[in-house]
Amino acid sequence: MIRQFLAILFFLLAHAHTHAQTTAIRAGRLLDPETGTAATNQVILIENGKIKAVGANVAVPAGAQLIDLSRLTVLPGLFDAHTHLCMTVQAERDKGSYYFTTLNDPDSFRAIEGVVNARAMLDAGFTTVRDVGNEGNYACASVRRALESKMIPGPTMINAGRIIAPYGGQFHLQPDKKNLAEPEYFFADTRDEMIKGVRENVHYGAKVIKIVVDDQDYIYSAEDIRFIINEAAKAGMKVAAHCWTHAGAHNAAEAGVASIEHGPVMTDEDLLLAKKNGVVLVGTEFLANVETGVAHAKWVDRLRRAYKIGITMAYGTDVIDAVEGQTRGTMAMSGIDPWVEAGVPTKALLQAMTINAARLLGVDKARGAIRPGLAADIIAVPENPLENVNALKHVSFVMKDGVVFKR
Ligand SMILES: [Zn+2]
Repeated sequence: MIRQFLAILFFLLAHAHTHAQTTAIRAGRLLDPETGTAATNQVILIENGKIKAVGANVAVPAGAQLIDLSRLTVLPGLFDAHTHLCMTVQAERDKGSYYFTTLNDPDSFRAIEGVVNARAMLDAGFTTVRDVGNEGNYACASVRRALESKMIPGPTMINAGRIIAPYGGQFHLQPDKKNLAEPEYFFADTRDEMIKGVRENVHYGAKVIKIVVDDQDYIYSAEDIRFIINEAAKAGMKVAAHCWTHAGAHNAAEAGVASIEHGPVMTDEDLLLAKKNGVVLVGTEFLANVETGVAHAKWVDRLRRAYKIGITMAYGTDVIDAVEGQTRGTMAMSGIDPWVEAGVPTKALLQAMTINAARLLGVDKARGAIRPGLAADIIAVPENPLENVNALKHVSFVMKDGVVFKR
C-alpha cells in the first residue's frame, strides 16, 4: 500500500517536474538562415534545454511556461568564430599594441575579463564563440570550464589555448628578454616542438589548435602546416590559421587548414585554392571598422571577392580593444557593417553567423539552428533582419540552452 502510494507520488512529482521544464515560445516571425526565409506565427517547444518541436500547429502543453515573442523576429543564436575574450587592449596604456597588454595584465585579471566579455557577447546575441587564443596561460580554458559548469552566463566557447607559432610568435623580442612572448605563444620551429605544442594544448584544455603562419620573416610552409593538422587530428582537433600575408594564406590554403583567419590580402587565386581544399574563411572584416581609406577598402574588397568566388565564410570579428560606451558584444555585432558595405546578401551573412560557423566549430549536431533535438540557443530582434539587417544590433531576447538570459 505504502509502496503503491510512493510510486504514484513519484510519478506525479516527475510529471510536475517535466511540465515545469517545458517552455513554449510564440514567435511572430521565425527566421531560418539556411533558407533565408521567415515563417509567421510559429511555436517553439523547449524541454530540458533543447528544442522539442517547431511549427505553426505545435500544441502548447498545459502548464508550460509561455514566452510571447509574437511581435518579434526570432532566430538562432549567433556565432562569432574569432574572439579574444581573455584580452582587452587599453588604447592609452598599451599604445595600440597588444604586446604591452600581455605584459600589463596577469592571467588572473584576464580570466575575469573573459567572464565579463563572455556575458557581453551573450547579451548582444552571440550564443557560441570560438576563442582563438591570446589567453595567456590558458585563462580562457578556465572561463570555458566555468561556462560549461554554468557558474557564469555566456556563450558556448571553443577555445584555442596557447597559439603555436614560429619563434617569437607575433611579437618582436629582444635577446635579453626572450621570455616576454611566453606563455602567450608556444614557439614551435621543429617537428618535435610542433607535436609538443599540440599535445600541451590538448592536455591543458584547448578545443581548437590555433597557429600563426606568418608574422615573422620565417613562415610555416605548407608541409609544416600539414604536419600540425595531422597531429591535431589525432586528438580530434581542427586547425585555425592566422594568415596576414599572401604567402602565409597560400600555404595554409594549400595545406587545407580548417579555417584561414583574416587573410586581408588573399588574391582570387588564394581564395579559389582555399575553396577547393574546403577551407573556411573567417575574414575578421570587423577590422575594416578600425581602419580608414585604403586599408578599410582593402578589407571590404577582399570580402566582396570572397563572396563572389563562393568560398564558405564564417563570421568572426577579432575585437580586442576597449572602447568607451561599447561592450565586447556591441562591437562584435558592428562587424556586420563591412558585410553590408561589400554588398553581401543578408541571407549569406546570417549563414556565416550560424550554420557555417557551427559546422566549422564542429558543433552543428548540437546547436546553430532552431530544429528539434538542438540546444535552445534562441534570440529575438524587433524587426526582420532580412528587411533591415541593423535589427541584429538590437537583440532584445536571449535564451541560452533553454534558459532566458535577456528579455
Ligand atoms: Zn585575432
